[in-house]
Amino acid sequence: MADNGHGAQPRVWLETYGCQMNIADSQLVTAVLRRAGYAVAARPEEADVILLNTCAIREHAEERVLGRLGDLARLKHARPQVKLGLLGCMAQHNRAALIEKAPWLDLVAGPDTYRRLPELLGNSGFDPAVDVRLNRAETYGDISPEYESGVRAYVTAMRGCDKFCAFCVVPYVRGRERSVPPADIIREIRELASRGVKEVVLLGQTVNAYRCGDAGFGELLRMVAAVDGIERIRFTSPHPSDMSQRVIDAMASEPKVQPYLHLPVQSGSDRMLAAMERGYTTEEYLDLVARLRAAIPHLALSTDIIVGFHGEEDDDFRATVELMRTVGYDSAFTFKYSVREHTRAHRLGDTVSEAEKARRLNEVIALQEGISLERNRAIAGREFPVLVEGPARRGTGMLAGKTPQFKTAVFPARDGIAPGATVNVRVESATAHSLVCALA
Ligand code: SAM
Ligand code: SF4
Repeated sequence: MADNGHGAQPRVWLETYGCQMNIADSQLVTAVLRRAGYAVAARPEEADVILLNTCAIREHAEERVLGRLGDLARLKHARPQVKLGLLGCMAQHNRAALIEKAPWLDLVAGPDTYRRLPELLGNSGFDPAVDVRLNRAETYGDISPEYESGVRAYVTAMRGCDKFCAFCVVPYVRGRERSVPPADIIREIRELASRGVKEVVLLGQTVNAYRCGDAGFGELLRMVAAVDGIERIRFTSPHPSDMSQRVIDAMASEPKVQPYLHLPVQSGSDRMLAAMERGYTTEEYLDLVARLRAAIPHLALSTDIIVGFHGEEDDDFRATVELMRTVGYDSAFTFKYSVREHTRAHRLGDTVSEAEKARRLNEVIALQEGISLERNRAIAGREFPVLVEGPARRGTGMLAGKTPQFKTAVFPARDGIAPGATVNVRVESATAHSLVCALA
């Protein structure tokens, strides 16, 4: 069992940067460390171990972590016995440069090495303990993560990615694609259901590429739908090329699978999609959207867009704008292209200036705000079942939850309506980001 050098239980403070997968990984890390005798610290100042679980997807994400590491170095200076560690994608991406920039780090551990964390933290050598080996068999399927309480839980269904899109660092930092065995996923979800979780979100970088023996993602959705107590199922992110008819059929026929899909397109220009090595054309993507909408009534769609990829001309960008208008997404995550070391596009460099990227980004943000607002206003007067999550962030006496389409609904609290309940609400007014509702 670990001890903090004074015979007391050591305490760990863990900060998470980046995507849902990282949040899920942090819950796993917390479980691994608890098993080894660590407690969770209430503040970094009280911790014996401080860990940052990091993201390498864009340069900006890395800069944020480096800034935070600088702050924490001061803490370590005051209390040199504190161990400071970096986990996750950035640890994997740039360990050598990192150790050079932050020589006070005690630990650098990649996403496939979390089982070894207690051992790595036990290292008392002068050099940092480093383990960034990727392990294509590691799914952590046997470890139950330490979930936060709430009505929704994120469950990792697959890890890594085999797509190698030209701009993306994920396959290099998270390794090759592998699926968690269905038995582990179902055991996990049954446990969550028994603790009151009503909604699960299955996670994976290309979650619909899930395959374990005979079970593909469509089969997995049906298995999860059979778990008593789970009322809603979502998943993120599916890749357009892996959106098989079996998955569409499962979405259409399993009432628990919610009518919302995050379907990253990245660009509306076929030239850019080919350069990005995304594996589909705009025609194929639009055809998929049409099939999804035909099969799943009232489907909401969101997407990811990158502006300013290598070689993106104004015509390419206009094609993205056009595609966004054609699809009419409910929401979109929009990014300026960031050149990443190790990726296929790295050697091509940047052709679009920072100012032009910013201009294009602002244009797509403004466009999407308008489309989101229009789509949300169009459902005024309609009724939706909302899974209650808790008090709304703004507005006293208001509760918040999600509609099946994953839109945030706020509505007046009433005695007897508690988190986990599903209530029917009527949309009274809308902004681009939320629906103001009355109880129906
Ligand atoms: N696996 C998912 C997929 O393929 O759609 C997304 C994974 S990634 C964590 C989330 C988003 O980050 C991507 O969809 C893409 O829009 C964006 N992204 C990835 N690499 C990027 C880069 N180098 N520069 C800017 N945005 C990037
Ligand atoms: Fe990155 Fe492409 Fe894999 Fe998504 S599918 S994680 S964008 S390489």
